[in-house]
Amino acid sequence: MVGKVAVEEHFVCPDHEEYVSKAWMSPEMHRRMIGRLSEVGEERLARMDAAGIDVAVLSLVTEGVQAEPDAARAAAKAARANDVLASVIERYPDRFSGLAAVSLHDVDVAVTELDRAVRALGLVGVCVNGFTTVAEGGEYYDDPKFLPFWQCLAELGVPLYLHPRYPLPSQRGIYEGRPELLGSTWGFGVETATHALRLITSGLFDRVPGATVILGHLGETLPFTLYRMQGRMKALRGSALAKPVTEYLHENFYVATSGNFHTPTLLGALLEMGADRVLFAVDYPFEEMEEAASWFDSVPIAAADRAKIGASNARRLLELGR
Ligand code: ZN
Repeated sequence: MVGKVAVEEHFVCPDHEEYVSKAWMSPEMHRRMIGRLSEVGEERLARMDAAGIDVAVLSLVTEGVQAEPDAARAAAKAARANDVLASVIERYPDRFSGLAAVSLHDVDVAVTELDRAVRALGLVGVCVNGFTTVAEGGEYYDDPKFLPFWQCLAELGVPLYLHPRYPLPSQRGIYEGRPELLGSTWGFGVETATHALRLITSGLFDRVPGATVILGHLGETLPFTLYRMQGRMKALRGSALAKPVTEYLHENFYVATSGNFHTPTLLGALLEMGADRVLFAVDYPFEEMEEAASWFDSVPIAAADRAKIGASNARRLLELGR
Protein backbone atom coordinates (compact mmCIF):
# COMPACT_ATOMS: atom_id res chain seq x y z
CA MET A 1 0.00 0.00 0.00
CA VAL A 2 1.33 3.41 -0.89
CA GLY A 3 0.35 6.58 0.95
CA LYS A 4 0.57 5.16 4.45
CA VAL A 5 0.58 7.42 7.52
CA ALA A 6 2.77 6.18 10.39
CA VAL A 7 1.86 7.66 13.77
CA GLU A 8 4.54 6.60 16.30
CA GLU A 9 7.81 7.72 14.79
CA HIS A 10 10.48 9.28 16.96
CA PHE A 11 13.09 11.98 16.78
CA VAL A 12 15.49 13.62 19.20
CA CYS A 13 17.03 17.08 19.25
CA PRO A 14 20.56 17.63 20.61
CA ASP A 15 19.52 18.92 24.04
CA HIS A 16 17.39 15.83 24.70
CA GLU A 17 19.91 13.09 24.04
CA GLU A 18 20.52 12.68 27.79
CA TYR A 19 16.93 11.39 28.17
CA VAL A 20 17.40 8.51 25.74
CA SER A 21 17.86 5.54 28.04
CA LYS A 22 21.03 3.50 27.62
CA ALA A 23 19.41 0.53 29.33
CA TRP A 24 19.64 -2.61 27.25
CA MET A 25 21.60 -0.94 24.50
CA SER A 26 25.27 -1.45 23.86
CA PRO A 27 27.15 1.88 23.58
CA GLU A 28 27.39 1.23 19.85
CA MET A 29 23.65 0.60 19.46
CA HIS A 30 22.85 3.69 21.56
CA ARG A 31 25.05 5.81 19.29
CA ARG A 32 23.36 4.31 16.23
CA MET A 33 19.88 5.04 17.65
CA ILE A 34 20.80 8.64 18.51
CA GLY A 35 22.04 9.01 14.92
CA ARG A 36 18.81 7.63 13.46
CA LEU A 37 16.66 9.67 15.86
CA SER A 38 18.51 12.88 14.98
CA GLU A 39 18.14 12.42 11.23
CA VAL A 40 14.86 13.88 10.01
CA GLY A 41 15.67 14.61 6.41
CA GLU A 42 16.55 12.89 3.17
CA GLU A 43 17.77 9.59 4.66
CA ARG A 44 14.56 9.06 6.60
CA LEU A 45 12.46 10.15 3.64
CA ALA A 46 14.18 7.57 1.46
CA ARG A 47 13.29 4.84 3.97
CA MET A 48 9.71 6.12 4.06
CA ASP A 49 9.53 6.07 0.26
CA ALA A 50 10.80 2.48 0.15
CA ALA A 51 8.14 1.46 2.70
CA GLY A 52 5.25 3.32 1.05
CA ILE A 53 4.95 5.74 3.97
CA ASP A 54 3.72 9.12 2.86
CA VAL A 55 3.59 10.87 6.23
CA ALA A 56 5.45 10.17 9.48
CA VAL A 57 3.93 11.69 12.61
CA LEU A 58 6.98 12.50 14.73
CA SER A 59 7.24 12.60 18.52
CA LEU A 60 10.10 13.19 20.93
CA VAL A 61 11.69 9.89 21.93
CA THR A 62 10.89 8.33 25.33
CA GLU A 63 11.44 9.19 28.14
CA GLY A 64 11.59 12.79 26.99
CA VAL A 65 10.65 15.60 29.32
CA GLN A 66 8.60 13.24 31.51
CA ALA A 67 11.93 12.03 32.96
CA GLU A 68 13.09 15.53 33.87
CA PRO A 69 12.38 16.16 37.58
CA ASP A 70 13.02 19.91 37.38
CA ALA A 71 9.77 21.59 36.33
CA ALA A 72 11.24 24.73 34.77
CA ARG A 73 13.85 22.75 32.86
CA ALA A 74 11.24 20.28 31.62
CA ALA A 75 8.96 23.07 30.39
CA ALA A 76 11.82 24.84 28.59
CA LYS A 77 12.94 21.60 26.96
CA ALA A 78 9.42 20.75 25.81
CA ALA A 79 9.05 24.17 24.19
CA ARG A 80 12.44 23.82 22.50
CA ALA A 81 11.54 20.32 21.20
CA ASN A 82 8.29 21.67 19.78
CA ASP A 83 10.09 24.51 18.02
CA VAL A 84 12.57 22.04 16.50
CA LEU A 85 9.73 19.74 15.43
CA ALA A 86 7.80 22.62 13.85
CA SER A 87 10.87 23.64 11.86
CA VAL A 88 11.26 20.07 10.52
CA ILE A 89 7.62 20.05 9.45
CA GLU A 90 7.99 23.45 7.84
CA ARG A 91 10.81 22.03 5.71
CA TYR A 92 8.81 18.94 4.66
CA PRO A 93 5.14 19.83 5.19
CA ASP A 94 3.83 16.98 3.02
CA ARG A 95 5.97 14.29 4.66
CA PHE A 96 6.13 15.04 8.39
CA SER A 97 3.57 15.95 11.00
CA GLY A 98 4.10 16.03 14.74
CA LEU A 99 2.91 15.45 18.29
CA ALA A 100 3.98 18.02 20.86
CA ALA A 101 6.09 17.36 23.93
CA VAL A 102 4.50 18.79 27.07
CA SER A 103 5.78 18.91 30.63
CA LEU A 104 2.98 18.20 33.09
CA HIS A 105 4.76 19.32 36.25
CA ASP A 106 2.62 22.45 36.18
CA VAL A 107 -0.79 22.05 34.57
CA ASP A 108 -1.17 25.75 33.66
CA VAL A 109 2.20 25.70 31.92
CA ALA A 110 1.21 22.49 30.11
CA VAL A 111 -2.06 24.00 28.89
CA THR A 112 -0.28 27.11 27.61
CA GLU A 113 2.33 25.04 25.76
CA LEU A 114 -0.29 22.67 24.34
CA ASP A 115 -2.27 25.60 23.00
CA ARG A 116 0.84 27.17 21.49
CA ALA A 117 2.00 23.88 19.97
CA VAL A 118 -1.35 23.23 18.27
CA ARG A 119 -2.53 26.73 17.34
CA ALA A 120 0.75 28.50 16.65
CA LEU A 121 3.05 25.63 15.56
CA GLY A 122 0.49 23.41 13.83
CA LEU A 123 1.25 20.23 15.81
CA VAL A 124 -1.60 17.74 15.76
CA GLY A 125 -1.65 16.28 19.28
CA VAL A 126 0.67 15.51 22.18
CA CYS A 127 2.83 12.56 23.08
CA VAL A 128 3.58 11.95 26.74
CA ASN A 129 5.93 9.22 27.84
CA GLY A 130 4.01 7.90 30.81
CA PHE A 131 3.97 9.43 34.28
CA THR A 132 5.79 12.63 35.20
CA THR A 133 8.87 12.18 37.35
CA VAL A 134 8.70 14.19 40.57
CA ALA A 135 10.88 14.05 43.67
CA GLU A 136 8.40 11.79 45.48
CA GLY A 137 8.04 9.37 42.57
CA GLY A 138 5.67 9.73 39.65
CA GLU A 139 2.39 11.47 38.84
CA TYR A 140 -0.25 9.75 36.71
CA TYR A 141 -2.72 11.76 34.69
CA ASP A 142 -5.89 10.43 36.32
CA ASP A 143 -5.19 12.86 39.17
CA PRO A 144 -8.01 15.47 39.17
CA LYS A 145 -5.44 18.27 38.99
CA PHE A 146 -4.80 17.30 35.35
CA LEU A 147 -8.45 17.87 34.33
CA PRO A 148 -7.79 21.31 32.77
CA PHE A 149 -5.17 19.70 30.53
CA TRP A 150 -7.62 17.02 29.37
CA GLN A 151 -10.28 19.67 28.80
CA CYS A 152 -7.84 21.68 26.71
CA LEU A 153 -7.03 18.60 24.58
CA ALA A 154 -10.75 17.98 24.01
CA GLU A 155 -11.43 21.64 23.18
CA LEU A 156 -8.58 21.68 20.68
CA GLY A 157 -9.82 18.37 19.28
CA VAL A 158 -6.41 16.69 19.44
CA PRO A 159 -5.42 13.30 20.89
CA LEU A 160 -2.87 12.35 23.52
CA TYR A 161 -0.47 9.54 22.62
CA LEU A 162 0.30 7.64 25.83
CA HIS A 163 3.75 6.27 25.10
CA PRO A 164 5.59 3.79 27.36
CA ARG A 165 8.41 4.44 29.79
CA TYR A 166 10.13 2.36 32.46
CA PRO A 167 8.14 1.84 35.68
CA LEU A 168 9.03 3.78 38.81
CA PRO A 169 12.04 2.30 40.62
CA SER A 170 9.73 1.57 43.58
CA GLN A 171 7.49 -0.55 41.31
CA ARG A 172 10.16 -2.81 39.84
CA GLY A 173 10.15 -5.51 42.51
CA ILE A 174 8.20 -7.94 40.34
CA TYR A 175 11.06 -7.88 37.82
CA GLU A 176 13.73 -8.62 40.44
CA GLY A 177 16.22 -11.08 38.96
CA ARG A 178 14.59 -10.93 35.52
CA PRO A 179 15.82 -7.60 34.13
CA GLU A 180 15.08 -8.73 30.58
CA LEU A 181 11.36 -8.23 31.36
CA LEU A 182 11.64 -4.62 32.51
CA GLY A 183 11.59 -2.56 29.30
CA SER A 184 10.03 -2.82 25.87
CA THR A 185 9.90 -6.63 26.05
CA TRP A 186 7.15 -6.56 28.70
CA GLY A 187 7.34 -3.90 31.43
CA PHE A 188 6.55 -1.01 29.08
CA GLY A 189 3.24 -2.61 28.19
CA VAL A 190 2.25 -3.31 31.81
CA GLU A 191 3.16 0.23 32.85
CA THR A 192 1.27 1.88 30.00
CA ALA A 193 -1.78 -0.37 30.13
CA THR A 194 -2.07 0.27 33.87
CA HIS A 195 -1.80 4.02 33.29
CA ALA A 196 -4.58 3.80 30.68
CA LEU A 197 -6.73 1.82 33.13
CA ARG A 198 -6.16 4.51 35.78
CA LEU A 199 -7.54 7.04 33.27
CA ILE A 200 -10.58 4.89 32.50
CA THR A 201 -11.46 3.88 36.07
CA SER A 202 -10.98 7.42 37.42
CA GLY A 203 -14.03 8.51 35.44
CA LEU A 204 -11.93 10.89 33.34
CA PHE A 205 -13.86 10.04 30.18
CA ASP A 206 -17.20 10.64 31.89
CA ARG A 207 -15.98 14.12 32.86
CA VAL A 208 -14.28 14.82 29.51
CA PRO A 209 -16.05 12.63 26.93
CA GLY A 210 -14.17 14.31 24.09
CA ALA A 211 -10.74 13.22 25.38
CA THR A 212 -8.95 10.83 23.02
CA VAL A 213 -5.95 8.61 23.80
CA ILE A 214 -3.79 6.63 21.38
CA LEU A 215 -1.99 3.52 22.64
CA GLY A 216 0.84 1.98 20.68
CA HIS A 217 1.81 -1.68 20.31
CA LEU A 218 -1.76 -2.66 19.39
CA GLY A 219 -3.18 -1.39 22.65
CA GLU A 220 -0.59 -2.58 25.19
CA THR A 221 -2.68 -5.79 25.64
CA LEU A 222 -5.91 -3.97 26.64
CA PRO A 223 -8.04 -5.18 23.69
CA PHE A 224 -7.39 -8.71 24.97
CA THR A 225 -7.78 -8.17 28.69
CA LEU A 226 -10.48 -5.57 29.28
CA TYR A 227 -13.47 -7.87 28.89
CA ARG A 228 -12.39 -9.97 31.86
CA MET A 229 -11.68 -6.87 33.92
CA GLN A 230 -15.15 -5.59 33.13
CA GLY A 231 -16.75 -8.85 34.24
CA ARG A 232 -14.80 -9.03 37.46
CA MET A 233 -15.39 -5.38 38.32
CA LYS A 234 -19.10 -5.95 38.00
CA ALA A 235 -19.02 -9.16 40.05
CA LEU A 236 -16.70 -8.02 42.82
CA ARG A 237 -16.77 -4.29 43.31
CA GLY A 238 -19.37 -2.61 41.21
CA SER A 239 -18.39 0.52 39.37
CA ALA A 240 -19.15 4.21 39.65
CA LEU A 241 -18.49 4.65 35.93
CA ALA A 242 -21.29 5.67 33.58
CA LYS A 243 -20.48 2.85 31.13
CA PRO A 244 -18.81 -0.57 31.08
CA VAL A 245 -15.01 -0.20 30.84
CA THR A 246 -14.80 -1.71 27.34
CA GLU A 247 -16.98 1.11 26.00
CA TYR A 248 -14.33 3.66 26.95
CA LEU A 249 -11.77 1.62 25.05
CA HIS A 250 -14.06 1.63 22.03
CA GLU A 251 -15.03 5.31 22.21
CA ASN A 252 -12.02 7.17 23.66
CA PHE A 253 -9.04 5.13 22.44
CA TYR A 254 -7.20 4.30 19.25
CA VAL A 255 -4.49 1.65 19.01
CA ALA A 256 -1.49 1.69 16.70
CA THR A 257 0.50 -1.18 15.21
CA SER A 258 3.91 0.11 16.40
CA GLY A 259 6.33 -2.75 17.05
CA ASN A 260 3.59 -5.36 16.95
CA PHE A 261 3.64 -6.64 13.40
CA HIS A 262 1.78 -9.84 14.15
CA THR A 263 -1.33 -10.84 12.23
CA PRO A 264 -3.24 -12.72 14.99
CA THR A 265 -2.74 -9.74 17.33
CA LEU A 266 -3.95 -7.28 14.70
CA LEU A 267 -7.01 -9.40 13.93
CA GLY A 268 -7.85 -9.64 17.64
CA ALA A 269 -7.49 -5.87 18.08
CA LEU A 270 -9.67 -5.34 15.00
CA LEU A 271 -12.39 -7.63 16.36
CA GLU A 272 -12.44 -5.75 19.66
CA MET A 273 -11.90 -2.16 18.49
CA GLY A 274 -13.19 -2.11 14.91
CA ALA A 275 -11.32 -0.97 11.79
CA ASP A 276 -12.00 2.71 12.51
CA ARG A 277 -9.91 2.61 15.71
CA VAL A 278 -6.64 1.07 14.49
CA LEU A 279 -3.73 3.09 13.07
CA PHE A 280 -0.58 2.10 11.25
CA ALA A 281 2.72 2.87 13.03
CA VAL A 282 6.29 1.61 12.93
CA ASP A 283 8.06 2.91 16.11
CA TYR A 284 11.09 3.97 14.07
CA PRO A 285 14.00 3.86 14.74
CA PHE A 286 13.52 1.06 17.25
CA GLU A 287 11.65 -0.94 14.62
CA GLU A 288 12.25 -1.08 10.88
CA MET A 289 9.95 0.64 8.40
CA GLU A 290 10.50 -2.05 5.77
CA GLU A 291 9.46 -4.85 8.13
CA ALA A 292 6.35 -2.99 9.34
CA ALA A 293 5.29 -2.09 5.81
CA SER A 294 5.84 -5.47 4.19
CA TRP A 295 3.87 -7.14 6.99
CA PHE A 296 1.03 -4.61 6.89
CA ASP A 297 0.79 -4.56 3.10
CA SER A 298 0.25 -8.32 3.00
CA VAL A 299 -1.88 -8.86 6.10
CA PRO A 300 -5.14 -10.65 5.16
CA ILE A 301 -7.74 -7.92 5.74
CA ALA A 302 -10.24 -6.22 3.45
CA ALA A 303 -8.84 -3.52 1.17
CA ALA A 304 -11.20 -0.99 2.73
CA ASP A 305 -9.87 -1.80 6.22
CA ARG A 306 -6.25 -1.60 5.01
CA ALA A 307 -6.96 1.86 3.62
CA LYS A 308 -8.50 2.98 6.92
CA ILE A 309 -5.74 1.59 9.15
CA GLY A 310 -2.96 2.53 6.76
CA ALA A 311 -3.96 6.14 6.24
CA SER A 312 -7.49 7.50 6.42
CA ASN A 313 -8.12 6.94 10.15
CA ALA A 314 -4.97 8.91 11.01
CA ARG A 315 -5.74 11.61 8.46
CA ARG A 316 -9.21 12.05 9.99
CA LEU A 317 -8.12 11.86 13.65
CA LEU A 318 -5.12 14.16 13.25
CA GLU A 319 -6.75 16.37 10.62
CA LEU A 320 -3.65 16.04 8.47
CA GLY A 321 -3.47 18.57 5.72
CA ARG A 322 -5.73 21.05 7.50
ZN1 ZN B 1 7.74 4.40 20.49
